[in-house]
Amino acid sequence: MSKARVATVWLDGCSGCHMSLLDLDEALIDLAPKIELVFGPLVDAQEFPEGVDVTLVEGAVSSQDDLQLAQKVRARSKFVIALGDCAVTGNVPSMRNQIPPKQLLERIYVDGVNVNHRVPADGVPALLKQAAPLHEAIRVDLHVPGCPPPAAAIGYVLTELLAGRKPELTGKVKFG
Ligand code: SF4
Repeated sequence: MSKARVATVWLDGCSGCHMSLLDLDEALIDLAPKIELVFGPLVDAQEFPEGVDVTLVEGAVSSQDDLQLAQKVRARSKFVIALGDCAVTGNVPSMRNQIPPKQLLERIYVDGVNVNHRVPADGVPALLKQAAPLHEAIRVDLHVPGCPPPAAAIGYVLTELLAGRKPELTGKVKFG
């Protein structure tokens, strides 16, 4: 049996959703023979690959880089999951949405510091005007709320998808 090609993506999030994935603990051993992890912070791949079966996306879409990666994820994945409240609603990253990016950056890097009064530019992706939930940037196949979603719910989702079934999340997840 060929393994499902699974990717994880970290956009504007705190990595807590990835930590919850790792909290599957010994259940990861059951999943391991069935999946090949092809991209994400847990593996070394530099470029999001073609032909991915399932991609779990943590975080809101907050920068130009986030948007480009999200679009690549959609183009190269059969099934895309918005994992966690930041990806589902914008959650914490969207708290900045009432403040224009330029004003926000100057408040943090110029007004809010005692040295190096300068907004960093080199190697820093341009912020979008607003941090958006994933479904505002690309089509999403499944929303898994939670901050973070419980490990058991993530394991259930993966197990159901690998078995060719649609996960039914009622009662298994909640916001916050
Ligand atoms: Fe972190 Fe919660 Fe956002 Fe996940 S949903 S990235 S745990 S803040």
